[in-house]
Amino acid sequence: MPLVDSRKMLQDARQGGYAVGAFNVENMEMVKAVIQAAGEMESPVILQTTPSTIRYGGAAVYASIVSAEAARTPVPVCLHLDHGSSYELAEECLEAGYRSVMIDGSGLPFEQNIELAAKVTAKAREYSVPVEAELGKVGGKEDDHEAESDGNTDPAEAEQYVRETGIDSLAVAIGTAHGFYKGTPVLDKDRLTEIRSRVEIPLVLHGASGLSDAEVEACVERGVCKVNFATELRVAYTEAVKELLAEKPEVFDPKELGIAGMKAVTALVKHKIEVCKSAGKGMIVQKGIEEV
Ligand SMILES: [Zn+2]
Repeated sequence: MPLVDSRKMLQDARQGGYAVGAFNVENMEMVKAVIQAAGEMESPVILQTTPSTIRYGGAAVYASIVSAEAARTPVPVCLHLDHGSSYELAEECLEAGYRSVMIDGSGLPFEQNIELAAKVTAKAREYSVPVEAELGKVGGKEDDHEAESDGNTDPAEAEQYVRETGIDSLAVAIGTAHGFYKGTPVLDKDRLTEIRSRVEIPLVLHGASGLSDAEVEACVERGVCKVNFATELRVAYTEAVKELLAEKPEVFDPKELGIAGMKAVTALVKHKIEVCKSAGKGMIVQKGIEEV
Protein backbone atom coordinates (compact mmCIF):
# COMPACT_ATOMS: atom_id res chain seq x y z
CA MET A 1 0.00 0.00 0.00
CA PRO A 2 1.13 3.64 -0.37
CA LEU A 3 3.13 5.17 2.48
CA VAL A 4 0.93 6.27 5.37
CA ASP A 5 1.55 9.00 7.92
CA SER A 6 2.27 8.02 11.49
CA ARG A 7 -0.65 9.85 13.12
CA LYS A 8 -3.28 7.12 13.05
CA MET A 9 -0.65 4.43 13.52
CA LEU A 10 0.49 5.96 16.82
CA GLN A 11 -2.98 6.88 18.01
CA ASP A 12 -4.09 3.28 17.47
CA ALA A 13 -1.03 2.13 19.38
CA ARG A 14 -1.84 4.49 22.24
CA GLN A 15 -5.38 3.16 22.45
CA GLY A 16 -4.32 -0.44 21.99
CA GLY A 17 -1.54 -0.40 24.59
CA TYR A 18 1.27 -1.35 22.23
CA ALA A 19 4.05 0.52 20.42
CA VAL A 20 5.12 0.78 16.81
CA GLY A 21 8.80 0.01 16.20
CA ALA A 22 10.70 2.70 14.32
CA PHE A 23 13.78 1.28 12.65
CA ASN A 24 16.69 3.29 11.30
CA VAL A 25 17.68 2.19 7.82
CA GLU A 26 20.84 3.03 5.93
CA ASN A 27 20.47 1.34 2.55
CA MET A 28 18.13 -0.58 0.26
CA GLU A 29 18.91 -3.87 1.98
CA MET A 30 17.89 -2.58 5.40
CA VAL A 31 14.68 -1.14 3.97
CA LYS A 32 13.77 -4.50 2.43
CA ALA A 33 14.72 -6.37 5.60
CA VAL A 34 12.58 -4.19 7.90
CA ILE A 35 9.52 -4.27 5.64
CA GLN A 36 9.92 -8.04 5.20
CA ALA A 37 9.86 -8.47 8.99
CA ALA A 38 6.81 -6.21 9.39
CA GLY A 39 4.96 -8.14 6.65
CA GLU A 40 5.72 -11.49 8.26
CA MET A 41 4.54 -10.19 11.63
CA GLU A 42 1.53 -8.32 10.16
CA SER A 43 2.71 -5.25 12.03
CA PRO A 44 2.59 -1.54 11.21
CA VAL A 45 6.12 -0.19 10.88
CA ILE A 46 8.06 3.05 10.72
CA LEU A 47 11.32 3.33 8.81
CA GLN A 48 13.45 6.34 9.57
CA THR A 49 16.63 8.06 8.44
CA THR A 50 18.86 10.51 10.29
CA PRO A 51 20.39 13.64 8.73
CA SER A 52 23.73 11.87 8.17
CA THR A 53 21.97 8.98 6.43
CA ILE A 54 20.21 11.51 4.20
CA ARG A 55 23.56 13.14 3.44
CA TYR A 56 24.82 9.67 2.48
CA GLY A 57 21.94 8.57 0.24
CA GLY A 58 19.58 11.52 -0.38
CA ALA A 59 16.04 12.07 0.93
CA ALA A 60 14.45 11.46 -2.47
CA VAL A 61 16.33 8.17 -2.85
CA TYR A 62 15.13 6.83 0.51
CA ALA A 63 11.60 8.03 -0.20
CA SER A 64 11.63 6.17 -3.53
CA ILE A 65 13.02 2.92 -2.13
CA VAL A 66 10.69 2.86 0.87
CA SER A 67 7.63 3.75 -1.26
CA ALA A 68 8.46 0.99 -3.76
CA GLU A 69 8.83 -1.59 -1.00
CA ALA A 70 5.74 -0.37 0.87
CA ALA A 71 3.69 -0.86 -2.29
CA ARG A 72 4.52 -4.57 -2.18
CA THR A 73 3.37 -5.22 1.39
CA PRO A 74 -0.15 -5.27 2.89
CA VAL A 75 0.96 -3.68 6.19
CA PRO A 76 1.10 0.11 6.75
CA VAL A 77 4.56 1.62 6.31
CA CYS A 78 5.60 5.14 7.28
CA LEU A 79 8.83 6.94 6.38
CA HIS A 80 10.03 9.31 9.09
CA LEU A 81 12.84 11.85 9.44
CA ASP A 82 14.67 11.00 12.67
CA HIS A 83 16.37 13.83 14.59
CA GLY A 84 15.67 16.46 11.96
CA SER A 85 18.38 19.01 12.58
CA SER A 86 16.86 22.04 10.86
CA TYR A 87 13.68 23.53 9.45
CA GLU A 88 15.25 23.28 5.98
CA LEU A 89 15.93 19.55 6.26
CA ALA A 90 12.40 18.90 7.51
CA GLU A 91 11.06 20.82 4.51
CA GLU A 92 13.30 18.85 2.14
CA CYS A 93 11.95 15.57 3.52
CA LEU A 94 8.33 16.74 3.34
CA GLU A 95 8.94 17.67 -0.29
CA ALA A 96 10.60 14.30 -0.96
CA GLY A 97 7.57 12.38 0.33
CA TYR A 98 8.41 11.55 3.96
CA ARG A 99 5.16 10.98 5.86
CA SER A 100 6.40 11.96 9.32
CA VAL A 101 9.18 14.28 10.52
CA MET A 102 10.98 14.87 13.76
CA ILE A 103 12.49 18.22 14.61
CA ASP A 104 15.07 17.98 17.34
CA GLY A 105 15.44 21.27 19.15
CA SER A 106 16.31 19.55 22.42
CA GLY A 107 19.74 21.19 22.46
CA LEU A 108 18.14 24.65 22.34
CA PRO A 109 16.83 26.73 25.25
CA PHE A 110 13.17 25.89 26.03
CA GLU A 111 11.62 28.93 24.29
CA GLN A 112 13.67 28.46 21.12
CA ASN A 113 12.87 24.75 21.08
CA ILE A 114 9.15 25.67 21.17
CA GLU A 115 9.59 28.22 18.41
CA LEU A 116 11.41 25.79 16.09
CA ALA A 117 8.99 22.91 16.69
CA ALA A 118 5.97 25.20 16.11
CA LYS A 119 7.46 26.46 12.85
CA VAL A 120 8.11 22.94 11.53
CA THR A 121 4.65 21.82 12.64
CA ALA A 122 3.03 24.68 10.71
CA LYS A 123 4.98 23.67 7.59
CA ALA A 124 4.19 19.97 8.00
CA ARG A 125 0.45 20.76 8.24
CA GLU A 126 0.61 21.92 4.61
CA TYR A 127 1.52 18.32 3.74
CA SER A 128 -0.83 16.75 6.33
CA VAL A 129 2.24 15.22 7.94
CA PRO A 130 2.60 14.78 11.72
CA VAL A 131 5.59 16.06 13.69
CA GLU A 132 7.59 14.51 16.51
CA ALA A 133 9.73 16.75 18.69
CA GLU A 134 11.97 16.21 21.69
CA LEU A 135 12.07 17.83 25.08
CA GLY A 136 14.84 17.05 27.50
CA LYS A 137 17.97 15.43 26.18
CA VAL A 138 18.40 11.74 25.45
CA GLY A 139 22.02 11.08 26.37
CA GLY A 140 24.79 9.62 24.25
CA LYS A 141 25.59 10.24 20.64
CA GLU A 142 23.08 9.88 17.82
CA ASP A 143 24.31 10.99 14.46
CA ASP A 144 25.95 14.43 14.76
CA HIS A 145 24.07 15.27 17.88
CA GLU A 146 25.67 14.69 21.27
CA ALA A 147 23.79 15.36 24.47
CA GLU A 148 24.42 15.31 28.19
CA SER A 149 22.67 12.45 29.97
CA ASP A 150 21.29 14.45 32.90
CA GLY A 151 18.52 16.38 31.14
CA ASN A 152 15.41 14.29 31.72
CA THR A 153 12.07 15.67 30.52
CA ASP A 154 10.21 17.80 33.03
CA PRO A 155 6.50 16.77 33.04
CA ALA A 156 5.17 20.31 33.54
CA GLU A 157 7.38 21.63 30.76
CA ALA A 158 6.20 18.76 28.55
CA GLU A 159 2.58 19.82 29.00
CA GLN A 160 3.38 23.42 28.08
CA TYR A 161 5.61 22.34 25.20
CA VAL A 162 2.93 20.17 23.58
CA ARG A 163 0.30 22.88 24.01
CA GLU A 164 2.42 25.65 22.51
CA THR A 165 4.00 23.73 19.62
CA GLY A 166 1.01 21.73 18.35
CA ILE A 167 3.24 18.69 17.76
CA ASP A 168 1.75 15.22 17.25
CA SER A 169 4.16 13.06 19.28
CA LEU A 170 6.75 13.75 21.95
CA ALA A 171 10.17 12.15 22.42
CA VAL A 172 10.92 12.02 26.12
CA ALA A 173 14.18 11.71 28.02
CA ILE A 174 13.88 9.34 30.98
CA GLY A 175 17.44 8.11 31.29
CA THR A 176 17.92 6.31 27.98
CA ALA A 177 20.96 7.00 25.83
CA HIS A 178 21.71 6.57 22.15
CA GLY A 179 24.05 3.76 21.17
CA PHE A 180 24.87 0.95 23.56
CA TYR A 181 25.13 1.37 27.33
CA LYS A 182 28.32 1.17 29.35
CA GLY A 183 26.55 0.04 32.51
CA THR A 184 22.95 -0.92 33.25
CA PRO A 185 20.75 2.11 32.53
CA VAL A 186 18.41 3.30 35.23
CA LEU A 187 15.19 4.46 33.65
CA ASP A 188 12.94 6.94 35.42
CA LYS A 189 9.71 5.13 34.60
CA ASP A 190 7.66 7.08 37.14
CA ARG A 191 8.57 10.19 35.20
CA LEU A 192 7.20 8.49 32.10
CA THR A 193 3.90 7.79 33.86
CA GLU A 194 3.74 11.40 35.06
CA ILE A 195 4.34 12.76 31.55
CA ARG A 196 1.78 10.34 30.14
CA SER A 197 -0.83 11.61 32.58
CA ARG A 198 -0.26 15.24 31.54
CA VAL A 199 0.21 14.86 27.80
CA GLU A 200 -2.47 13.58 25.40
CA ILE A 201 -0.27 12.85 22.39
CA PRO A 202 1.75 9.64 21.82
CA LEU A 203 5.13 9.40 23.55
CA VAL A 204 8.32 8.21 21.87
CA LEU A 205 11.23 6.31 23.39
CA HIS A 206 14.64 6.95 21.90
CA GLY A 207 17.83 5.08 22.66
CA ALA A 208 16.27 1.63 23.06
CA SER A 209 19.23 -0.27 21.60
CA GLY A 210 20.78 -2.19 24.45
CA LEU A 211 17.79 -1.85 26.79
CA SER A 212 16.52 -5.22 27.95
CA ASP A 213 13.25 -6.46 26.45
CA ALA A 214 11.66 -6.15 29.89
CA GLU A 215 12.65 -2.46 30.14
CA VAL A 216 11.19 -1.69 26.72
CA GLU A 217 8.01 -3.61 27.58
CA ALA A 218 7.66 -1.68 30.84
CA CYS A 219 7.93 1.61 28.96
CA VAL A 220 5.30 0.47 26.44
CA GLU A 221 2.99 -0.47 29.32
CA ARG A 222 3.43 3.03 30.70
CA GLY A 223 2.36 4.65 27.48
CA VAL A 224 5.22 4.75 24.99
CA CYS A 225 3.72 4.37 21.49
CA LYS A 226 6.86 4.50 19.32
CA VAL A 227 10.19 2.89 20.10
CA ASN A 228 13.29 3.75 18.07
CA PHE A 229 15.85 1.08 17.24
CA ALA A 230 19.00 2.13 15.40
CA THR A 231 22.37 0.93 16.65
CA GLU A 232 21.41 -2.72 17.05
CA LEU A 233 20.27 -2.95 13.42
CA ARG A 234 23.54 -1.58 12.11
CA VAL A 235 25.48 -4.01 14.28
CA ALA A 236 23.36 -6.99 13.19
CA TYR A 237 23.81 -6.11 9.53
CA THR A 238 27.55 -5.58 9.71
CA GLU A 239 28.26 -8.59 11.92
CA ALA A 240 26.44 -10.86 9.46
CA VAL A 241 28.50 -9.49 6.59
CA LYS A 242 31.72 -9.91 8.59
CA GLU A 243 30.82 -13.50 9.47
CA LEU A 244 30.14 -14.34 5.86
CA LEU A 245 33.47 -12.89 4.76
CA ALA A 246 35.33 -14.68 7.53
CA GLU A 247 33.81 -17.99 6.41
CA LYS A 248 34.03 -17.34 2.68
CA PRO A 249 36.72 -14.77 1.89
CA GLU A 250 36.33 -15.54 -1.83
CA VAL A 251 32.85 -13.89 -1.96
CA PHE A 252 32.89 -10.76 -4.13
CA ASP A 253 29.23 -10.27 -5.10
CA PRO A 254 27.62 -7.47 -3.08
CA LYS A 255 24.29 -9.30 -3.39
CA GLU A 256 25.63 -12.14 -1.26
CA LEU A 257 26.74 -9.68 1.40
CA GLY A 258 23.35 -7.96 1.22
CA ILE A 259 21.44 -11.21 1.62
CA ALA A 260 23.41 -12.09 4.75
CA GLY A 261 22.83 -8.62 6.21
CA MET A 262 19.12 -8.64 5.38
CA LYS A 263 18.52 -12.00 7.04
CA ALA A 264 20.09 -10.78 10.27
CA VAL A 265 18.13 -7.51 10.27
CA THR A 266 14.81 -9.24 9.51
CA ALA A 267 15.30 -11.65 12.42
CA LEU A 268 16.16 -8.81 14.80
CA VAL A 269 13.25 -6.61 13.70
CA LYS A 270 10.79 -9.49 14.12
CA HIS A 271 11.97 -9.85 17.68
CA LYS A 272 11.61 -6.11 18.36
CA ILE A 273 8.08 -6.17 16.93
CA GLU A 274 7.26 -8.89 19.48
CA VAL A 275 8.68 -6.74 22.28
CA CYS A 276 6.58 -3.77 21.11
CA LYS A 277 3.49 -6.05 20.97
CA SER A 278 2.49 -4.74 17.54
CA ALA A 279 2.36 -8.13 15.80
CA GLY A 280 -0.99 -8.59 14.07
CA LYS A 281 -1.89 -4.90 14.46
CA GLY A 282 -0.94 -4.04 10.88
CA MET A 283 -4.00 -5.70 9.42
CA ILE A 284 -6.29 -4.00 11.96
CA VAL A 285 -4.78 -0.60 11.22
CA GLN A 286 -5.17 -1.20 7.51
CA LYS A 287 -8.82 -2.13 7.94
CA GLY A 288 -9.32 1.07 9.89
CA ILE A 289 -7.87 3.11 7.05
CA GLU A 290 -10.08 1.42 4.45
CA GLU A 291 -13.18 1.97 6.54
CA VAL A 292 -12.53 5.71 6.81
ZN1 LIG B 1 17.02 9.39 19.00
